[in-house]
Amino acid sequence: MHIKELFKDKTVFSFEVFPPKKTSPVDVIYSTLDELNDLHPDFISVTFGAGGSGNSRYALEIASKIKESGITPMLHLPCINFTKSEIDAALDEAKERGIENILALRGDINPEIPPVNDFSYASDLITYIKSKGDFDIAGACYPECHPDADSLVDDIINLRKKVEAGADHLITQLFFDNDNFYEFREKAAIAGINIPIEAGIMPVVNKRQIERMVTTCGASLPSKFVRIMTKYEHNPEALRDAGIAYAVNQIVDLVASGVDGIHLYTMNNPYVARKISEAVSGIIKT
Ligand code: FAD
Repeated sequence: MHIKELFKDKTVFSFEVFPPKKTSPVDVIYSTLDELNDLHPDFISVTFGAGGSGNSRYALEIASKIKESGITPMLHLPCINFTKSEIDAALDEAKERGIENILALRGDINPEIPPVNDFSYASDLITYIKSKGDFDIAGACYPECHPDADSLVDDIINLRKKVEAGADHLITQLFFDNDNFYEFREKAAIAGINIPIEAGIMPVVNKRQIERMVTTCGASLPSKFVRIMTKYEHNPEALRDAGIAYAVNQIVDLVASGVDGIHLYTMNNPYVARKISEAVSGIIKT
């Protein structure tokens, strides 16, 4: 199933998972997948380390496992630290496993790992994947601008190159202020980008996530969000419930505003995914 077909009929609702660390066996994630599959998302995507994480084999295995359970998988594929023949090997294996959907990415540039430079940008990878078979290809986009870009205008001009190269749909970086997404969507449309854009939603449900948000995430934190997180940061149960409620509110507003899809960063937490899925089940299925 090519994911692009789904957008024709409905608001797409999808999940993202990440493979376990290479020091853990792959099957530690299988019970999580069973619980996520029970929620019947339209697809589940699996992240893939851009370099050095050693979990790439896991990503393919996990994608196969998702497919076996009857859910459409999407494999993330970053390119900046891989040679053309490594990308060929990943695509060949994806084909053998019947994985038809790829999220084509550049990957973050790690100062400790010099880039291979067979592919400089995600658009180069998209062009290459197009030449390798009948894959459905997604790309990443950034409502608040990619950190390497000089401006959102430049970033959107670069995003158009991904679309021209053959991206079928897009998934956004996480954001906490829907207005940033609406402004981005409008600017992208003005730039002629008219493929479906799924909104990436990250429920922030524990203190570790808050700390990471504040230090590393480029997303702006609206005062409402900061107020909630500050109030509940020392009360894990309240923080979890508040984070779920915040994500649900974002989704309700996005769906009411005609979003093409919601991509939930599950953080491999089936409890949170279930609570959110149940809260939005009435509005999301159309
Ligand atoms: P690109 O589209 O190549 O853009 C990177 C930068 O280069 C941008 O600033 C852009 O404006 C600029 N640019 C693009 N094309 C050109 C051009 N032709 N000329 C000049 N400048 C250009 N990373 C992982 O390693 N593994 C994952 O599984 C993963 N999953 C992700 C899932 C989502 C939904 C998102 C949003 C991100 C994910 N990432 C993942 C992170 C991603 O790899 C990084 O954000 C990375 O820094 C950029 O990747 P990209 O594909 O958007 O790059």
